[in-house]
Amino acid sequence: MAPTTAQTTCPLDCPDTCTLEVTLEQGRVTKIDGDFRNPITDGYICSKVRKYPNHVYGPDRLLYPAIRKGPKGSGQFSRIPWSEALDQIAHQMRVLVKEYGGSSILPFSYGGSNGVLTQGAMDERLFRRLGSLRLAHTVCAAAAGAAAKGLYGKMPGVAYPDFEHAELIVIWGANPSASGIHLVPMVRKAQEKGARLVVVDPRKTPLAKKADLHLALKPGTDLPLALAVTRDLFHHGKADLTFLGEHATGVDALKAKAEPWTVERAAECCGLSAEGIRSFIDLYASASPALLRCGWGQERNRNGGSATAAILALPAVAGKFGVRGGGYTASNSSAWSGLGDSLAAEPEQKTREVNMNRLGRELLDEQDPIRLLFVYNANPLATLPRQDLVRRGLEREDLFTVVFEQVMTDTAQYADLVLPATTFLEHQDLRNGYGAFTLQSVKPVIDPVGEARSNNEVFEQLIQLLELDKADDLPSSRLFRAAISDAGLTTRQQMDLEQKGATAPEFGDQPVQFVDVMPRTADGKVHLFPEALDAESPQGLYTYQPDPATEDAPLTLISPATRKTVSSTLGQLWQGTVPLEMHPTDAAARSISSGDEVRVFNAFGEVKAPVRITEDLRPGVVFLPKGIWTRHTHNGWTSNVLCPDTATDLAAGACFNDARVEVEKLG
Ligand code: SF4
Repeated sequence: MAPTTAQTTCPLDCPDTCTLEVTLEQGRVTKIDGDFRNPITDGYICSKVRKYPNHVYGPDRLLYPAIRKGPKGSGQFSRIPWSEALDQIAHQMRVLVKEYGGSSILPFSYGGSNGVLTQGAMDERLFRRLGSLRLAHTVCAAAAGAAAKGLYGKMPGVAYPDFEHAELIVIWGANPSASGIHLVPMVRKAQEKGARLVVVDPRKTPLAKKADLHLALKPGTDLPLALAVTRDLFHHGKADLTFLGEHATGVDALKAKAEPWTVERAAECCGLSAEGIRSFIDLYASASPALLRCGWGQERNRNGGSATAAILALPAVAGKFGVRGGGYTASNSSAWSGLGDSLAAEPEQKTREVNMNRLGRELLDEQDPIRLLFVYNANPLATLPRQDLVRRGLEREDLFTVVFEQVMTDTAQYADLVLPATTFLEHQDLRNGYGAFTLQSVKPVIDPVGEARSNNEVFEQLIQLLELDKADDLPSSRLFRAAISDAGLTTRQQMDLEQKGATAPEFGDQPVQFVDVMPRTADGKVHLFPEALDAESPQGLYTYQPDPATEDAPLTLISPATRKTVSSTLGQLWQGTVPLEMHPTDAAARSISSGDEVRVFNAFGEVKAPVRITEDLRPGVVFLPKGIWTRHTHNGWTSNVLCPDTATDLAAGACFNDARVEVEKLG
């Protein structure tokens, strides 16, 4: 039979929301590439998803339910029927709720799918009815999200295609060459038309190498830099007082917090030259349209919330809104408000909330212990800080762990029961972009592989087995319609979604900030000093907390996304050992050469890996990729064993970049 093609959407954790063209031969996927009908995808996709058939059919794919046969972590399982697996889970849940209450059960999920229907639907319905613990999804974007919400009520940002209109582009804490790759050609196009580019990042990212100015600041010092820019704008008459008077609150409070941060003081703290900072201020103040792309790199430390808030305040202070290609862009995930809100069909109960970043500690807590852990859409052993504690928790013999997954992850190795999950090629879903604005349909293009089942199918079956179903419950087959209805789609939008597989929000897919979209705060203004954020932040909003380096651990370990791993999803496709990257100065000081085996360590643990020496890092910073699995180092630990489970100043997010370490040569 001749190959056929089908269209669907990539729902993975990535801003771009690509439209995919999938080639099928005899019911199997043989190729995945970008579709030309989506102007942002423009016919190409990342190499990760091009390799997705290896994920769907590869040796790590889970094909049927299985029960543990060996010690926890040994990965030894025996196949069992679905009915037996679900009966066992339902039995465990019933007994635990009766004996210990719902607080003995923790559902653990994150963005392993990112579709609207695969999280917060039947799963949430089940766990709310069980009265289980609640999970705070804080591992990524918690602090940045809190800042964006506090200042602008999550106002939609500038769309990718409008980057070409900018005269100046500032990329701060983002590496689009790894995450959100379709932004790169837009930035390059703007540069070809004469735009200047500034990159603020401790690493020489590919775009930093093409930038007019690269500010390679010390990780965790974004806040002083942003405050110094703010102070200078006010001091030198470059702040847009008219705009601020009309559209902002909290101006004086922000100004007061910025006042101690002279350019010289910030330069010293950030490890930058005062001239470099002044060049940035001059460029930013004089350019229009000036566009700031704020990522997530700046949030993964003790100052992350305040840093993001101070960065996002800059376009307001400098008056950069109101023109196409001017303003800022961060996450656009809230462009579709209400989407999927009704799917749980059960009001949230105020049971105890567990911060996912502290999973290890929670699993080892002997007071009112967690006795059943249900993991889906997530690989916590690979992705969470204090990996040592997470592993010890998963090793508990009295913990019953269910892992519902597509492949045998590091976490699944510790399960008592594994359940095979469908991939986005095998089930229906919806995806709203957080870079692109479109809402897109995710269509199944193949039958489930092996005995894989969708999240909603399995959680619906568990609800029924536990007799927690209600007469008016919406069945899983109608969740798609309900999600659309939540978002209040117009008839035209519904038709677009059905016929073209995608639709744009009512404000369009290229809004101009302060023209087409306004802050979604209660009064429609920018809140430059939100009182709630000030009260939440331990030291007060915009208060810098110093570097946690010690004599024993003087180097900063960062673990940003790479082209191969934006998250741990698809990490199993990365073959071989992953090197620790290090600056030549730091390597020479430790008599380390490229290719040497080293241990990178601190009080929490150690990682053994080969070294790659590179000038792409600033001195004092070492790098291991985000999202790698335990198989990627020589001793079965990743950077996360070295990361503290401390919290960001806002929203208790993860502080991966607050890991401080030492490195020594082995052998
Ligand atoms: S991960 Fe991002 S770039 Fe890759 S296919 Fe999906 S949406 Fe496109």
